[in-house]
Amino acid sequence: MPSRRTTDRSGTAPDPGDEVVLTVLGCDGSWPGPGGAGSGYLLRIGDTTLVLDAGPGTFAVLQTFLDPSEIDAVVISHHHTDHWTDLYAMDTQARFGGRRGRLPIYAPTAVVERADPERTPALDWRTVTHGDRAGIGEASCAFHRTDHAEETLAVRIDGAGRALGYSADTGPEWSPEVLGTGLDLLLCEATYTAEFEGTAGHLSGRQAGAMARAAGARRLVITHRLPSVDARAVVEEAEDAYGGPVEQAAIGKEFTL
Ligand SMILES: [Zn+2]
Repeated sequence: MPSRRTTDRSGTAPDPGDEVVLTVLGCDGSWPGPGGAGSGYLLRIGDTTLVLDAGPGTFAVLQTFLDPSEIDAVVISHHHTDHWTDLYAMDTQARFGGRRGRLPIYAPTAVVERADPERTPALDWRTVTHGDRAGIGEASCAFHRTDHAEETLAVRIDGAGRALGYSADTGPEWSPEVLGTGLDLLLCEATYTAEFEGTAGHLSGRQAGAMARAAGARRLVITHRLPSVDARAVVEEAEDAYGGPVEQAAIGKEFTL
């Protein structure tokens, strides 16, 4: 069953070596709650440093862990503003903060259109779509379209002998099973509790737990909870459906795969 290897080391900068470490930079669904931030995650695979999504408030948190000049690339799941608008701050920092070379951004077309490459000269835009793969340092990324607005891309990332799945935002007509077998950790959205199922293109804790179980994910971390929804209630129904411990993302939490 899933193991608990969570540590909360906000503000520290551990040397991951060849470890794969996921750090939560922000995990609030749809809008940042009090003291919170939109969606954003730091993923370190050996010497490769990726950022998954760059929602509002996440870039400030990122800098408590590392110098942003160390980022190799950013992967953006979709165009909704809770997932990407800190790219503007990253662009400005890249221009004036001493970064060498432009910062590669892997994103669906709708993000590129909204962000506007002319406004982000320090960002090196690389459009990705369903079925694409990208190699970024030690990371191998595979993109899959989810059940969400326009084109939203989930991603499976393999590296250093580990595999991470990230659902991005999705409704119930998608399944992490399409990411393939052998997921060491599934980072899955669980925006609300079961009573709200069907009210928006998102998952409840119950649905996220059932999907993770069907996909055979070894660990489940749920994220993207609406600030107005009770965290404990979402975890409890996710654990019931998953059949094991489920962890709730929180700013500064680290997960070693
Ligand atoms: Zn969202």
